[in-house]
Amino acid sequence: MSGKNKTNSSCGNPEYAQLSARYKLLESLMDSVPDVIYFKDINGRLIMVNQAHARGLGLAPKEVIGKTDFDIFPRARAERMRKDDLQVIKTGKPIIDKIERATRPDGVDNYVSTTKIPRFDKNGKIIGIIGITRDITRRIHLDQVVQQKEVTEKKIRDLEELNKMKSELISVVSHELRTPLAIVNEAVNLVYEGIPGVINQRQKEILDKAQANLQRLKRMTDELLDLSRIEGRDFKLRYSLVNFNDLLGASLDFFKRAAAEKKIELSCDLPKKQVNIFLDFERINQVIYNLLNNAIKYTEEGGRISVEVKILENKLRVGVIDSGIGIAKDDLNKIFNKFVQVSRIPQFRQKGVGLGLSIVKELIEKHEGEIWVESKPGVGSKFYFTLPFFYTLRELNKNSQDKVNRLLEKNIPLYLINILVVNYRIFRKMTRISPQEFFSGLREIISRSANRTGEKLKSEIIFMDDKFGECSIIFPRAHAGQVSEFCDRFKKGVTDFIKQKDLREVFINIGVVAYSPEGKLKQAQGLPVNLHISKIYIGSEVRRFRRMEYKANIDILLPGKIKDPSEVIDISEGGICLASSRQLKTDSRIRLDLKLPSGRQLSAVPARVAWIKVVDTLRYGEGQSYKIGLEFIRLDGAQKKVISGFIKSRTA
Ligand code: ADP
Repeated sequence: MSGKNKTNSSCGNPEYAQLSARYKLLESLMDSVPDVIYFKDINGRLIMVNQAHARGLGLAPKEVIGKTDFDIFPRARAERMRKDDLQVIKTGKPIIDKIERATRPDGVDNYVSTTKIPRFDKNGKIIGIIGITRDITRRIHLDQVVQQKEVTEKKIRDLEELNKMKSELISVVSHELRTPLAIVNEAVNLVYEGIPGVINQRQKEILDKAQANLQRLKRMTDELLDLSRIEGRDFKLRYSLVNFNDLLGASLDFFKRAAAEKKIELSCDLPKKQVNIFLDFERINQVIYNLLNNAIKYTEEGGRISVEVKILENKLRVGVIDSGIGIAKDDLNKIFNKFVQVSRIPQFRQKGVGLGLSIVKELIEKHEGEIWVESKPGVGSKFYFTLPFFYTLRELNKNSQDKVNRLLEKNIPLYLINILVVNYRIFRKMTRISPQEFFSGLREIISRSANRTGEKLKSEIIFMDDKFGECSIIFPRAHAGQVSEFCDRFKKGVTDFIKQKDLREVFINIGVVAYSPEGKLKQAQGLPVNLHISKIYIGSEVRRFRRMEYKANIDILLPGKIKDPSEVIDISEGGICLASSRQLKTDSRIRLDLKLPSGRQLSAVPARVAWIKVVDTLRYGEGQSYKIGLEFIRLDGAQKKVISGFIKSRTA
């Protein structure tokens, strides 16, 4: 701070020393704030300024003292400033937070907020002003971004509303079309059959064409109606516990004939073990039907189609792979849109209406799964979808399965808990007690934990397996608080049991799933997900690995030593999920350079592309990006140790 009246003499006067100390305090306060502070006399001359003021003008403080705004700023601006000064001096009232656009001496445009306060002498006479000016460019820019965001959000809301209206219109129109369409169809049929009078061959041929087009129109109205229903607010999935191999088997039997007619070889690659999964049977059947139907439709005679089912870490992945006409690269991200037909070959275009894949996408997303496609013209297409399995995949006995399905059918809210001894194979070898004894101990803890819960919790063990180290319990009509309490008690029970029996190195995972009457099967919310105490993990999913969110950069190593930087979303000992602008090939093997926030680095970690989620950022004008699930392939001991050490350090 520099002032005209500044003096260094102390005169040995205590009153003066005190004043001087106060002055110094004021000086350091003024110089430490980033705002511009100045004192002007009645004629607009600067008599004191702080460091920020002088710095902003690119001058030394003493060069500013004694100057007026006319000596520093362009005339127009100086006049505006003087006008404000005079207003304060004349009225004796301050100007507070006046926002102006300004140009700094270095030429940068900025926004400032200025406050000017009158200064009075002992007799109340105005002797000048005190001014404070703050650079608020960042605040203004932030406000502009917020405003922009609000405008964009409103646009999105309007578009969504428009979309809803369009869906409703489509629903009404297609509904209204059905009856007249059925009547016309019936009439054409009657004439074709010759009931009102015999028709000749030429007339028959014309009616043949009419019938084919009527069929197409009917399919279109049916699919339109179905899509608007699925997109509608009231749409609910009807979950049941389904044996996936059975579901697929039935679909394949149905398509075998159609494939044989076109001399297409249809094969299926199912996992060896039976897979039980919660899904809407009818709707997933419809998905498989549409994908297989397309595969047959767009594959020429003598081609091949295979259906493969793979169990991923916590998802089931289904692939429908054909050796058909394929899809051009530019068309790949369009084909899930409504009414899109991309085949350049007219004979194929006539066969569809371009709604099947939109329906498929909606249905898979309603199941919280992912869907994506890879294709090459002339080589074939691979359509993949995943379904989360939240719960054990093991086959339940028929009774238990029926029981669960009866509860779901009646829309009874349901909690399912799956207990998994993650390291069961090793644990069995190392432990001194028998699997039977271990599981009867667990059974007792489960029953005690359920009985001691507030209002008695109804529960039933529907699956217990000492061969695989798994146990499943259902809690009909339970609410979240009770289940949470159960988990806590169970965890404590098991901890005591482990101590008492001196069992070491057992890692138990508890996955909790909630089914609500709104037709949603979801990972239970509000549960103590991170309760990883000792060796028990209570989370919302059935996972063999602890997974943690971890934002960091990663390099995908592509052929030709290209490094593709991506961002990691989460990581576990089993794999990694990352965001990328590049769509990798399903099942392709890649290597990753991994930089952990701890500073540790892992080079060329081998991984396999397990699943892909297409993130549609089109509406924000950025094109498409991908969330990619990778599973590690045989990490070596050192790599495993680094990753598990990192996860442990973050989740402890
Ligand atoms: P459609 O009723 O026309 O088959 P879909 O929504 O099911 O409608 O498919 C949209 C478009 O995607 C099709 O018209 C076709 O061009 C393309 N398509 C879908 N499946 C395949 C496939 N297996 N092979 C090649 N192209 C396909």
